[in-house]
This record gives sequence, C-alpha cells and structure tokens, in this order.
Amino acid sequence: MPNLKLGQTLDHHIAGRPHPPASGEYLEDLAPATGQLAGRIARGNAADVEAAVSAAQEALAGPWGRTTVNERADLLDAVAASIESRLDEFAALESADTGKPVSLARTIDIPRVISNFRFFAGAIRHSRSDMFPMAGALNYTLRKPVGTVGLITPWNLPLYLLSWKTAPALAMGNAIVAKPSEITPLSASALAEVLTEVGLPAGAFNLVHGLGPEVGAPLVGHPKVRGISFTGGTATGARVAATAAPLFKKLSLELGGKNPSVVFADADLEAALEGVTRAGFANQGQICLCGSRILVEAPIYEEFLAGLCERVAALRIGDPSDPETQVGSLVAPSHREKVESYLALAREEGGTVHCGGERPGGDLAAGAFLTPAVISGLGQECRTVQEEIFGPVVTVQPFQDEAEALALANGVRYGLAASVWTRDLARAHRFSANLDVGMVWVNTWLLRDLRVPFGGVKESGVGREGGQHSLEFFSESKNVCIKL
Ligand code: NDP
Repeated sequence: MPNLKLGQTLDHHIAGRPHPPASGEYLEDLAPATGQLAGRIARGNAADVEAAVSAAQEALAGPWGRTTVNERADLLDAVAASIESRLDEFAALESADTGKPVSLARTIDIPRVISNFRFFAGAIRHSRSDMFPMAGALNYTLRKPVGTVGLITPWNLPLYLLSWKTAPALAMGNAIVAKPSEITPLSASALAEVLTEVGLPAGAFNLVHGLGPEVGAPLVGHPKVRGISFTGGTATGARVAATAAPLFKKLSLELGGKNPSVVFADADLEAALEGVTRAGFANQGQICLCGSRILVEAPIYEEFLAGLCERVAALRIGDPSDPETQVGSLVAPSHREKVESYLALAREEGGTVHCGGERPGGDLAAGAFLTPAVISGLGQECRTVQEEIFGPVVTVQPFQDEAEALALANGVRYGLAASVWTRDLARAHRFSANLDVGMVWVNTWLLRDLRVPFGGVKESGVGREGGQHSLEFFSESKNVCIKL
C-alpha cells in the first residue's frame, strides 16, 4: 500500500524499488498553503537517469517485453481500482502538495487519473490493426512499442498529467522513465508504489525526482530514450525540442496557452458568466486550458464586466483542505511573485484592476494565496494580454464584430484552446473553424472526452495526445507485405 502521508523522504523508484540518489542529496518540497514541509525528495542527476534507463531497457528485454495486450489491460485496470479505493487519500495528498482545493482534487484530478487507466485498458482491448490487400499480396500493420520513453510533467495537474502519459505508454508496452516537477512530486511516488503493488514487472515504470536541468535534460539527451512526451512551458519545450531533434526521437510537446473566451451579445449571459468564471479561475488559473483573455461583444461589455467582477469577488478563497474552498493557494511563493509582477505590469500598461490581486491575511498569510483578479483597459499589444501568466488573473477586452473578435482571439503566439459563447449555431461553426487553436468549446469549457485529440498549434505545442493519438505516439507501426 502506498504511503500517502505528508512529510516523507522519497527516493527515486528504479527497477521496482526505492533507489537513493547518487548525489546523496535531497530537496525540500513545501506545502504552498502553509509553507510547511510536505516531503523531501531525492535530488537526481545523470547517474540516476542512467540507472533508470538501464532498468527500463532490462524490463523491455525481460518479462515486461513479453506481456500480452490483455495482461497489460488487466494491469491498468488494477491500477485504476487501487487508486479508486483510496481516492480521498490521493486527493488530500495532491491538494496539500499543490495548494489546490481538495474538492477539485477529489472531483477532477484523481477521478481523471482513474479514468485514464481504465480508458487506455479498454482502448487496447478493442484495438485493431490495418490490413491492405493488393493484387497478389497482402499488407498488414504491426504496432510495436517505441522502447524506453521519457515522460516529463509540470506541477499544475501532477498525477492527472502523469497518468495521461503513463497509461497509454504502458498500454503499448513501453518502459518509462518519468520526471515529475520537483515542486509537486508526492503523487508520482505514490503511483510508482501502486504500479509495483499491482504486479507491474520491475523496470517498466521508473521515476527519477529532481530538477529540470539535472534530471530532465539528461533524460531528453539520453540516446536510449527513444521518445519524449513533455508537458510544460513553451521556453522549456523549445530546449527539449532542440536536444531531441538531432537524436531523431519521437517527440510530443504540450506547451503553454493564452486562451480566449469569446462572448457574443446573443449568448446566454448567465451560462456565459458561470462558464467564463470557471474557465478563468479553476485551479487558481493554473491550467494550460484556462481562458485568461475574455473577449466580449461591445453591446454587453459593461454588463458582462460588472457581472464577472461580482462573481469573481464572491469566489471563496481559503484553506485547500476545506471542502467549501473554491480558490486555494498558488503552487509556490515564487510563482505568486511572478503573477504579482504581471499585475504591476498591467497597471503600468494602463490597465484597471477591478478586483483581486491581493494577498489575504489572517490564517492564509503563511501561504502563497492571491485573490482572483479581473483587469480591463488593456490593448492587444500589451504584454499582460500577450504573455501566459498562469495564475488567477484574467483580462477583459471589448470587440465590435466577429471579424475583430477573430483577430483578437488569434492575435497571440499561442494556439491551445478557446471557448465561444453564442446562441447562433452558424456562427459557432464558422468561428470555431477559423480559430487558430487545437481545441474549441462552444457554450462550455473543459468538457472532455478522452478519445478526442488534445493539443495545440503555434507555440502551444507539436503533436496530439488523447485516444488513438496517444496510442500512436507510444508505438511504431511496422508494415509487413506478403506476396501471395
Ligand atoms: P516547466 O516548463 O518549467 O517545467 C515542466 C517540466 O519540465 C518540469 O518537470 C521541469 O522540471 C522540466 N524541465 C525543466 N527544464 C528542463 C530541461 N532543460 N529539460 C527537460 N525538462 C526540463 O513548466 P511548469 O512546471 O512551470 O508548468 C507550467 C507550464 O506548463 C505552463 O506554461 C503551462 O501552460 C504548461 N502546461 C501545458 C499543458 C498542455 O497540455 N499544453 C498542460 C499543463 C501545463 P522542474 O520542475 O525541475 O523545472
């Protein structure tokens, strides 16, 4: 049974067991809502990555490499069942490590982890392969694992995103070396223990804790790691791509976003206010899909802005372990400072901060809390409008017509997601088709079907995850042509 208590000292997980760091050093992991120690994690380096890659290679050459599809599907289902049986404990751990409300971890993060394992178990049980008959010959396509793959994940949805990669990678028979963010590492260690407990062969899943340059970089540069699935910031993604490209690795990059929520005057105003508020501030605005740029058609601009400020000011900020809390702590004090620097910049750029952007006192003073902020009065060229803030801050801009809405929506270097709020179905189709993004929601936000393609365009990434896309990424297809 994984130990889901705070305050542990966690080693790497290599070849199915705890593996102390070659450096002998450990990093402190703090709970952002209290500033107290959440745990200590091994400080990994290239030697630890080497040990993990060796364990992965041995697993591929051993029993793990010989598992059948059904055996792998059963293992994934067992992982889902194990986490489900301790959902509340997993949610409490994730909430403490990230500062997110426990209600969010309980209803979104951990249930999605469970679904990810179940979904990919079902997907491989029902998978098919292609067959192409031709005159005098028959082609069929085999799918083989890529081999040893590196999974690098950020701090905002730690186990949710790690499981979104781990489940399909294991489903297709790869061996994994995972590197979670060092500021939210606890649930990754718990997952490693669950995987061992359900009988995953040693070395099929390895975990190396530590810092990006000390663990992530050697993992990306390791010649035996044949695929990298990376979710994180655009600047880091560019470094990962520069290292991986000359080594001809398979590469999936899910990067940043500066997503528009576009509200037309004919929208259901109450539904739009509810949805746009959720899109802006869920997980303290720390979701790559958050709608941080709100574009509102001129006739309803003032009414919408007033309604938004009223709703945002009413969001309940508080102790993440309180089930009533809607807004928790940011992930770290240093991240709060970054978000605050954008609020100062917004003021310099001529913006008006209507509400929020303050550090609450009292019981919350020791944590990295920041009240949710709404800013207006900024032009499209302003850095506050252009750059990803990744916190509880939204900007609101008016537009005159559909053409201007499209120009504003597309006028950033990112292209991850958008939400569009309108009752005009023809416009919904037309506008969605013209948006330069990978995902559009109409009259909703973050409604997810695990089969659909997930990913962005422009500087939001390369490649798609989700359903068949994930299974294809974590496998190599091989055609066999037989002359009859
Ligand atoms: P970072 O890019 O800073 O880090 C992501 C991961 O990469 C971390 O594990 C990090 O380690 C590691 N890393 C850092 N440097 C290197 C390196 N040189 N080589 C390899 N790995 C490295 O992102 P954040 O953790 O700050 O996460 C926030 C970002 O993630 C936002 O931009 C957000 O938009 C994006 N994101 C994108 C999503 C998507 O699906 N498109 C989903 C969720 C988040 P360390 O923590 O030690 O620095």
